[in-house]
Amino acid sequence: MPDFLPIAYFESKFIPFRDANISIATHALHYGTGAFGGLRGTINPTNPQQVLLFRLDRHCQRLSNSAKYLHYDLSSSKIYEVITDFVTKNKPTKPFYIRPFVYTSDLGIAPRLHNIEKNFFVYGLEMGDYLSPDGISCRISSWYRQEDRSLPLRGKISGAYITSALAKTEAVDSGFDEAILMNSQGKVCEATGMNIFIVRNNKLITPSFDQDILEGITRDSILTIAQNLGIEIEQREIDKTELFIADEVFLCGTAAKVTPVKKVENYHLPQDKMITNKIKEKLTAITENRDSEYQDWITVIDI
Ligand code: PMP
Repeated sequence: MPDFLPIAYFESKFIPFRDANISIATHALHYGTGAFGGLRGTINPTNPQQVLLFRLDRHCQRLSNSAKYLHYDLSSSKIYEVITDFVTKNKPTKPFYIRPFVYTSDLGIAPRLHNIEKNFFVYGLEMGDYLSPDGISCRISSWYRQEDRSLPLRGKISGAYITSALAKTEAVDSGFDEAILMNSQGKVCEATGMNIFIVRNNKLITPSFDQDILEGITRDSILTIAQNLGIEIEQREIDKTELFIADEVFLCGTAAKVTPVKKVENYHLPQDKMITNKIKEKLTAITENRDSEYQDWITVIDI
């Protein structure tokens, strides 16, 4: 069991995490009518009385947008206020992860979003590395990412994660660490909870927004960082076969940070990860507030 932070925000109150429980009849549990966010909290390496949150504004905005898809009016500023209070009340001492969740909280059946109560909770857990920082192997999933015309892929809709779960387990069962999913057009999309980048001829390439990807905040940050480092970037369709001959491949996300890919299917990628490492170092420095150029991406919370 993970180490959960002691206080949760549940039904508009801060209460002990162990008391924050929902009924088995909760609507969202049955229909996947929830949406979540995910943020990492870093203890300031130079001051343990401070927690650093990376791009809090963007995370709050994305969750507020996800809530809109659920017909739930929850402002980004309310989410911001709850998350900062949540951190202050928990006083974490180790790296952690915050999971805010919006959902249809009524009890009862019939999938719908109208005439139904919604609610919002936040809890947290300690989190170290999500994937091996030294590099992982990936299989091409037999499961395809859903299409935006079937569900709002710009939101982190909980029900959509059945595909990630199927793909992850299929990958692990067949001896790989992670899965790379294609989209319905058979083009490279993303991993089970991470966006993907490849490097070819010193160019950093990632699927564009029209490829049914999640609008990842780490992805967006990496594009800005790369541009500022003078690395050429391209957002476009990526063929599966480009993965096998890429100079570098990495996955990125809040939990996964920057995770190098060593092998895709049975194709071993070159060991030199120059651009991956450059981006990874920069991102680490930014999240630890050691980079003055990007201080506006960091919210400092005194605990
Ligand atoms: N894709 C999916 C499906 C995800 O769940 C995540 C994690 N939120 C990402 C990509 C990466 O997004 P972010 O960088 O905002 O964490």
